[in-house]
Amino acid sequence: MKIKGIARDCLEGIKASAKELHPREFLALLSLGNSKDIITELVLLPQMVYGRRHATFNIYMAPFDRRIVGTVHSHPSGSAEPSEGDLHTFQKHGRVHIIIAYPYEDDTWKAYDYNGNEIHLEIVD
Ligand SMILES: [Zn+2]
Repeated sequence: MKIKGIARDCLEGIKASAKELHPREFLALLSLGNSKDIITELVLLPQMVYGRRHATFNIYMAPFDRRIVGTVHSHPSGSAEPSEGDLHTFQKHGRVHIIIAYPYEDDTWKAYDYNGNEIHLEIVD
């Protein structure tokens, strides 16, 4: 099923976490929770390693969960374009990938599919 949108609370959580960790990167998994086609929850992994240049984590440490549909991470640099490393990760894990760029506001994030093509996600209140 196509992912249609992201819940407003979830997006606010992403913005707050990205701001809190700045200038380090924030990284989490995106989950549908109880919804069929809206991202409603963030899943934080204890194994995540935050670095100034790039956040990395071991996806294989993630719980097996069909509700997890992709990843979100922040770009303290201010560009929401995926890096080559990001594109590689997108292809391996999940269907929806969000990049939120500094200053982490409603107009500084973008969503991509597994091929790195930008997709539209509706913000659902
Ligand atoms: Zn990145």
